[in-house]
This record gives sequence, C-alpha cells and structure tokens, in this order.
Amino acid sequence: MSNFEKMQARIAVGETILMDGGMGSEFERRGLASPTVWSGGPMLTNPELVREIHEEYIKAGAEIIITNTFATGRDSLERGDLGHKVAEANRLGIEAAVQARRNAGKEDSVVIAASVATMTPKEHAETPVPYEKALDTYREQFAEMAKGGPDVAVGEMLIRISDTLASIDAAAELGLPAWVGLSVLRDGDELYLGIRGRHGDGGHAGETLQDALDAIKDRDVAAVFVMHTPVDITAPGLEVVKRNWSGTFGAYAHFPRASGPDPRANVLDPQQYLEYAKGWREQGARIIGGCCGTRPDHILALREWLRGV
Ligand SMILES: [Zn+2]
Repeated sequence: MSNFEKMQARIAVGETILMDGGMGSEFERRGLASPTVWSGGPMLTNPELVREIHEEYIKAGAEIIITNTFATGRDSLERGDLGHKVAEANRLGIEAAVQARRNAGKEDSVVIAASVATMTPKEHAETPVPYEKALDTYREQFAEMAKGGPDVAVGEMLIRISDTLASIDAAAELGLPAWVGLSVLRDGDELYLGIRGRHGDGGHAGETLQDALDAIKDRDVAAVFVMHTPVDITAPGLEVVKRNWSGTFGAYAHFPRASGPDPRANVLDPQQYLEYAKGWREQGARIIGGCCGTRPDHILALREWLRGV
C-alpha cells in the first residue's frame, strides 16, 4: 500500500492527519524571501535550508509535507528573470522533500504533496488567467516533480476557477491524486475565492466558494482545503465546503503578518491556533496543518492534541 493509500485508509476510519506549517514565511523571517519570486528564490539558492525546514516539520509530527514549489512555476520565476530555472527549481523542490523524509526515517509513512499555486498575478483574483496557460504552467511543474515521486499534487491559494480546474487536470495527466486548496474571503454575507490583506486589496472576481465547489464536483479530487485563509474565515469556509462537497476536506490557515505598526501584533501562538483547529476538526476537517505564519511549534501543539483524540 502506498503512503497515500495508507493515509486515505486512516481518514476513512475518522482519523485526522497532520500536515506541515508555513515555509515561505520561514524564509521571510530569515530575510531570505525574494522580492520578485518570494519562496521561489530560496528554493534555488538555499535548497539545504528547505530540506531542514521540512525535517523540522516532520520532527514536530507532520505526516504530510508540501514541496516549496508554490512560486516555482514559469509565471512566477519569469518575474525574477528566472524562467530558465523552472526545471531546476522544481527538481530541487521535490528532492528536498524526499531527502527530508528519508533523513527523518519516514519513507514508509510521510506523504509528499507537490505544490503549484494560483497563477500570477497571485494577489488579483479579478485578473483572468486562461485555462490553457495555467494548464501548461502546472503541467511543466508537476512533470518535473513527478520524476522524484510525490504522493499527491496540490494546487494552493487557488483564487480563480480556471486555474483550479487546470491544476486538477494537470495532476490527472500524470496520474497523481489531486488536492485543491482554495483561498477565500468574505464580502457581505458571501464567501468568495480571493485573498486580501498584506497582498493588497486584490479582492475577488465574483466567483463564490460554492461556485468553485460546483465547478470541480465532476472531477476526481481527493481532498478540498480551505487554506491560506485567515483563521476566522476558515470555519465559515469549511461550512460551505461541508454543504457542497461530499469528499474529504481539510484546513490550513494563515494569520496576517508584517501589517500595521507592530509586525507581530497579529501573530497567533500555538495554543491560540490550536483552539481554531479544534473547531475545524469538529466541523469534519480530516487533514489539518498551518499556512503562512505557522511554525514547527504550531504543528507540535496540533500533534500533542491529536494524540489525545
Ligand atoms: Zn499561506
């Protein structure tokens, strides 16, 4: 049985699987995040650090690690004139995760999710991205990473239905199970695909979370996540998912940072984050982790809690 199948079997009997926490925010903390290609920069310059961070998360108890390839798509790397580095960056991304899993002695259990992200501009849901362009971008990344043997493919911070569908289809072409990570915001009484906050007021394009779930219902998707979404919007997002999605779902939220006069003002400590996570599990989330801002300590707190449930 593959690691992915083992995980699916545990989910089927009601277990909750622990995912890792933020990676890009760790580079930011160390002053390594690239101004043009963010987490894609350190993937090329500091692959050893990426592996170490993966290992820290596994040590904290994470059973799923996500490759640091959120910003290594052609669309992202070209912003830093690194379009010729797409294959290298994605190869390094899967290698760092595979090596971390091996070093941790968890080759028989830890699941590696190969990540792609919403298309550039990543902060403006209202800027349309053609499905074909997204498909080409994701196909290129997944094909490179597939050589290293990921267990599942995940589209992250998806804020448009077009790239959401493209991420699922690109995974399917390579025979990888697909996960869908949707970022949502509230506008009035409705939840839309989109992000706001430190990325600026990107807002949304009028595509609701429910629209996105309707759009993917006939595709083969192994899990849907509400992710890179503020902690207080995550629970309402999961309610919509619960009503409109019959399969597995999960959550990994972020909290705002570097905004306002005190950049640490909004940081949630591990116990505070845990209180939100408990609610997500009550709602039925079966895969839980952390996104930007969360650190190994947050994952450790979740690990200790999950041991007791
Ligand atoms: Zn995030």
